[in-house]
Amino acid sequence: MSTNHNVHLIDHPLVQHKLTLMRRKDASTNSFRRLLNEMAMLMTYEVTRDMAMQDIEVETPLETTTCKVIDGKKLVFVSILRAGNGILDGMLSVVPGARVGHIGLYRDPKTLTAVEYYFKMPKDMHERDVIVVDPMLATGNSAIAAVDRLKECRPKSIKFVCLLTCPEGIAALHKAHPDVPIYTAAIDRELNSHGYILPGLGDAGDRIFGTQ
Ligand code: URA
Repeated sequence: MSTNHNVHLIDHPLVQHKLTLMRRKDASTNSFRRLLNEMAMLMTYEVTRDMAMQDIEVETPLETTTCKVIDGKKLVFVSILRAGNGILDGMLSVVPGARVGHIGLYRDPKTLTAVEYYFKMPKDMHERDVIVVDPMLATGNSAIAAVDRLKECRPKSIKFVCLLTCPEGIAALHKAHPDVPIYTAAIDRELNSHGYILPGLGDAGDRIFGTQ
């Protein structure tokens, strides 16, 4: 993983390979979803690298020893609906105790701004670390709106995870929320006038759910 100005690029060969397969326009819904699931597991490994651990006593068949554990319940994966849900399963398969929040935002097609229609978080957010997930950080509008709302719940920390982003998305999110690190598998060339990332992979929600 390489890090520059609070942007963590997950450049592991397995992640890069799977992302390349996902970009292909002829990838089926089935394979797109499976690859996304695998990427989510691999990316979670990097994103949780600095998670707090506790010591516990364990009895092995031979003796008692002190070992490390994480408290998965302290993590909240927050999915920005609907494409964020495509990442959740993979993340939960490696941190099954994590809590899950949902934020419903849609992009106004004319203004490209984010409009909220749903917000549901676990209780005691002030005790939890939040990882917000959305496959694409494009204009940054949804990410900014999601983080704005989440900060009202005062979580201990917030990270943002996406598959793909572009310079415009990074600049926008960091301008609004410089304290929020971004984890991504790629920084693509640019955003087009419709708010799509180029070269990108198309509409992530449509590709995950087969709604094109
Ligand atoms: N959302 C997508 O699904 N794709 C993009 O390229 C940009 C935003």
